[in-house]
Order: sequence, then structure tokens, then C-alpha cells
Amino acid sequence: MGILESPPIAAAPAAEAGRYWNAAIETLPRPQLEALQLARLRSHLDFAYRHSPYYRQAFDAAGVGPETLRSLADLRHFPFVNKAIERERQAAAPLLGDMLAVPERDVVFVSASSGSTGVPTLSPFTAADFETFQDNQARLFRAAGVTADDRYVHALNFTLFVGGPDVIGAQKLGALCFWAGAVPSDRLLYILQTFRPTVTWTTPSYAWHLGETARAQGIDPARDLAIRKIIVAGEPGGSIPATRAAIERIWDAQLFDFYGISDIYGACAGMCEARDGLHLVEDDILLEVLDPATLEPVPDGTPGEMVLTTLTKAARPMIRFRTGDIVTADRSPCRCGRTHARIRVTGRIDDMFIVNGVNVFPSDIEFVIRSLPGLNGEFRITVADERHLTRYSLEVERGESTESDAALAERIAHDAKTRLGVRPRAVTILAPGSLPRTTHKARRVVDLRGQA
Ligand SMILES: [Zn+2]
Repeated sequence: MGILESPPIAAAPAAEAGRYWNAAIETLPRPQLEALQLARLRSHLDFAYRHSPYYRQAFDAAGVGPETLRSLADLRHFPFVNKAIERERQAAAPLLGDMLAVPERDVVFVSASSGSTGVPTLSPFTAADFETFQDNQARLFRAAGVTADDRYVHALNFTLFVGGPDVIGAQKLGALCFWAGAVPSDRLLYILQTFRPTVTWTTPSYAWHLGETARAQGIDPARDLAIRKIIVAGEPGGSIPATRAAIERIWDAQLFDFYGISDIYGACAGMCEARDGLHLVEDDILLEVLDPATLEPVPDGTPGEMVLTTLTKAARPMIRFRTGDIVTADRSPCRCGRTHARIRVTGRIDDMFIVNGVNVFPSDIEFVIRSLPGLNGEFRITVADERHLTRYSLEVERGESTESDAALAERIAHDAKTRLGVRPRAVTILAPGSLPRTTHKARRVVDLRGQA
């Protein structure tokens, strides 16, 4: 059975004007969806085993093969892959590595992600993979309520970044698209003023920053610009209610959180109009949520590491890829009628630190700070060891408030202790504008552990 074969599903016309991009797939009852996943996973494992030298070796070493899989649960017998393996296999067999399952001549696109070691890992796509990527992206845009009547500005980086081509998904559903890219704020504001687009996509911290920049120039984004939807990705902020509300207030627009990852696709999951979690494209990507310590599955609603498996991506199948993202899964029916699982992203394992045995995510601290009045939402966390104990302290910018620094600091410390279970060692209140602003992914954690 070939990689692209799967049980017959009545395909909805691609340009369907309704609320779904592909109603048959998006509302498929879960037993049928899982049957489709199983059929696709079987043929995908078989394809990977036959065509990728890496997977053949890894499956043989683990004593598994395509025939090991009788149910979706059997996937747990297969070995994991991660960023380090990806990097190593790429170095072992340049250019694209021996996880590749097609000849290089069949690869038409690569994205690159740099990561902490600075060696970019390449994510290859065949023409069919790229087509699926953009069809999934069109589905996510449609779920967020974007239509052919929208004008869309794509304000993500185009240089090797997997989010760059996502603009094609908006074009596919008929929106009028402006390929802006990562331009300076003044240029982007000029585009927003001149062409009056209705939808844009940035990171949450950049949406906030751009709103502040506009206001500083005497432009009120809510009154003077036409943006009604802002798609965000790349940071947890888009799913933190207080952060979302603050950005929505500045813009008088609705925020939709999307999730993509270079190793798989730029388009993996996105919020529908119910905005209660992000629907994963489950006919194309299989979800596991595992306890990061035991690597055993956790029940829906319990946070765990998200492990993703591609079901059709031919160039480089990803079997059990450990994303390093902490999520909760929700497979209950959604108000929008879609049956595909929803994820809520809590944070990155890398950013998590442990204080008194409590797992602390920067997104939890962001939740506290953005929920409190009298602050402008900007903050920085410093994690340090003190006599072998990990402690964290906070620097927080004040907003419009007449409260004393001491009173503000005490409220933050109290709320942090209530929500997180551990009190910060110190809270410093700063004047607005004291902390460095970022236009890309906000790095809010300074880790001084292991330093003298
Ligand atoms: Zn929904």
C-alpha cells in the first residue's frame, strides 16, 4: 500500500465556502478518524522502514517493524526521535540526512531551524508534502474565520523559516494576501494604514509591541486600522487569557493562537472560532501526550510532553518526535463541530525550572503578571541557585498605577505564591520601558544557574 493511499473519504471541494475547509475530514466521527489514522500510520511506518536508512536501523535495533503496529496504542513500542537525533543524522549524511525517505531530487522545499547549538536543522518537503502543508494551513485559516473577503498581511519571517510559506494557505482560501515578511514596525504600520488589511499574523509579543509603537506615533490601532483578527504563534501568550485580552483591547481584534513546528509543518494546529484550545490536523499528524519523566501516556487534561508523528509526510517521516512542548489534550467534542483533538500549550520543557519540587513555567508567571491591574505586562524572570537551592526573582514594569512599589511587589509575590505554589525570592518594580523589548520570540527568562 502506497504512502498516499488511505481509506476512501469523500473529499470536500477545496474552495468550499462554508465554515469548514474540508467538512468530511474535520467532522469525521472519532472512531472513523482513528481508523483513518491507523491505516495511514501503518503505511507510513512501512514506507519509513523501506525507504529511510535511519528508520530501518532504529526499528531493527528496537526490535520493531511495521507489522508490530496492530492498534494506534502499539506506537508506544517504537523509538522516539528528537532534535538531537535529527541534527546528528543530518551531519552523518549531508545534506538532508539519512532520516530522508525519498531521493533528494524529489525534495522541493526545506525550512531551517537553528536551535541553541547554532547548527541549523533542515526540514525537507516533497511537492506533495508542501501541498498538504498548505492545505492544512488553509484549513486552519478557515477555522479561524478567515475568508476570501479578507485582506491578509503575512508579517512572519520568510528567510528559511517554516512559517514563511503559511501565507500560501491564506491565498488558497482566496484572501487577498500581502507578503510583508519581518519588516521594521514603521513599514508594517504603513502597510496596515495604507492597504487596510483585516487579518495579520505575528508573535504575541510583537502584536503587543506593534500596538504600543502605533500608539506612540499617534495611531490608535483600534480606531485607525482595520485589523479584526490577529493570528499569533511561537510563544504561549496567545493562549494566556490575560495576555490575549490585553492585545485584543489594544487592537479591538480577536486573537487566534496557532501552533507549528519546523520539524513537522508550519501548520499543525490552530484555534477555531470557539477559541477553546487549538485543533490539531489529526488526519495528518498523530498526537501523544506523555509524562516527560516516565514517557508513559497521561490522561486528557493532564499536562505532558507533546510527541507528534507524521502520517503522510514522505520526504522525512517523523515517527514519535519529542517536541519539547508541554501541552494538555482535549478529545471532547468542540462547539464548532470539529472532532479533531484540541491542544493547549503550557510552555517548553527547556524553559521550565523547578523550585522546591514545583515545576514552574514562565507562562504561569506571565498569567499572574498579566492578570494584575497596575502593570503594563512586561516582565523578566531570573533563575539562580542560592546555596544549591533554585530560586526565582521577578522584574516587573509598572503601568498606570498610584500604588507604591512595595504594595505592587507584594501583590505579585502573593499571587505568584497562590498560583504557582512558590514565592519569588524578590520582586522589583521598574519604570515602564526599562526592560528590553523584543520583536521576535520574547526571551523572558535569565538563567544564572551554574554560574559563580
Ligand atoms: Zn472547535
